[in-house]
Amino acid sequence: MAISTKTLLPIFVIQKLNSEKMAIKIGIIGAGPAGLVTALALEAYCKTDQTVEITLMDKNQSAMDYPGVEYGIQTRACLSLQRMGIKEEALACGLPAFRISFFNARTNKKQKFGVTIDPNLTVNVIRQEFLGELTNLLSRTKIHRQCNVKSIQASPEKVNVLCEDKNGQDESLAFDMLISADGIGSIVRKDYFKNENYIHNRGFYCLYMLINIPNDAPKEFKEAANTGECMIVLGKTTTATLFPMGKNRFAVGVGFDDQVQAEIWNVAGINPNLTWVELDVSQKQKVAELLASDCTFQNDMLTKCFQWVPDWNSYKIYLWKMRDSDVATRPYNEYHNVIMIGDAAHAIMPTIGMGASLAIEDAEMLGRQLSTQILKEKPDFKAAFQQYSSERVPVWIDLMERARAGAKLNFVGIRNKSRLSIGPQLPGRFFWKIVAKVEEWIG
Ligand SMILES: Cc1cc2nc3c(=O)[nH]c(=O)nc-3n(C[C@H](O)[C@H](O)[C@H](O)COP(=O)(O)OP(=O)(O)OC[C@H]3O[C@@H](n4cnc5c(N)ncnc54)[C@H](O)[C@@H]3O)c2cc1C
Repeated sequence: MAISTKTLLPIFVIQKLNSEKMAIKIGIIGAGPAGLVTALALEAYCKTDQTVEITLMDKNQSAMDYPGVEYGIQTRACLSLQRMGIKEEALACGLPAFRISFFNARTNKKQKFGVTIDPNLTVNVIRQEFLGELTNLLSRTKIHRQCNVKSIQASPEKVNVLCEDKNGQDESLAFDMLISADGIGSIVRKDYFKNENYIHNRGFYCLYMLINIPNDAPKEFKEAANTGECMIVLGKTTTATLFPMGKNRFAVGVGFDDQVQAEIWNVAGINPNLTWVELDVSQKQKVAELLASDCTFQNDMLTKCFQWVPDWNSYKIYLWKMRDSDVATRPYNEYHNVIMIGDAAHAIMPTIGMGASLAIEDAEMLGRQLSTQILKEKPDFKAAFQQYSSERVPVWIDLMERARAGAKLNFVGIRNKSRLSIGPQLPGRFFWKIVAKVEEWIG
């Protein structure tokens, strides 16, 4: 087909304009859900502007370099991925979930009320697989792995990042803008948004396990692995969560407070000063068995599934100490083009399973706001930062409050409670508080 000069002219003009426009260099620290989705959002929304250069830096070698954890990717995140046109591909590795049920192991009965969820907008994924899918979707972002950011220096015009590469060599990179998606220990938050004591220990632990069951496992295990019903189980002194992950796998988390931890270490004959990573495999197995026997359901399902744990030292089994951080109510400042998203700005506990979903929603929104500016003749990044934070901060504050209430109601001091609370899981900014209050009052 012959192409007329009429068709060629606008293409030539756009290419010429693009070639004359200065490249905008955007650096992102952290290739977790927040960092990867920001890069994907910038790629999606700046499709027509090839002058944006995106660089992602992460200290880890790959997504596998991280302890075991599953994510319930919830409605807010699903909608963000949908807007970017990548929901199906990004979540292909997961299993849709349709319900959260509450089970009381002391009475051996399901609680009357549960929370119904939309399986089109709630998908359980394993972090490593999900991040792998997101990475595969990137097309023009440069990824620097094993790049440990040690410090940043920002002026109104530039942000310089000093990192250490895999050979221990220092490398300096310069950007027009830096997005901090480097999680709870964020170097940017520590250096640039100085605020002492913003990370808190919340007085409880969670042992996370990803269990692969064999094809010939009994029916109840296959159901737990492959149907989309999530369970929260009240034990005598612990609370277990069970998430089906599909492909004959489920994720189990057992939560217990500091007092129970000390008791378990004592019963297992473990030196009280030893942390999880210092335990040998037989001690790890013993701890898991003691926890599982506290929280029995479905004929001791938890204890029985340990026969399929091939390696107690694997990344699939990990004891998390629960911490959170205060919400950064101003995730940027006037003087530099540096902004924080995801756990760097608001690390919330997994008691309502929202951290990754919030990070994804932040990332898509920031990517969209920035792209609107980038496509303008004179981009105003501060306007994008301002819009982003005015929309996000109220959401972060609400969900932080729910996650803290979830910890208090369902994970800490469990031996004094007679039932689990569904309040923090319910939609509606005020409705959940009313339900949680009534539940607290009932006892
Ligand atoms: C036990 C547990 C269970 C959870 N369950 C859920 C759940 O069911 N649903 C849910 O939505 N959320 C859940 N979360 C929360 C979720 O893990 C976080 O909210 C989410 O990972 C935040 O994403 P992020 O990208 O902001 O940070 P991270 O996932 O922490 O990613 C930060 C990245 O930055 C990199 N990095 C850090 N510092 C540097 C540096 N100096 N230089 C270079 N790279 C750096 C890290 O290597 C990492 O890859 C859970 C958390 C825990 C601990």
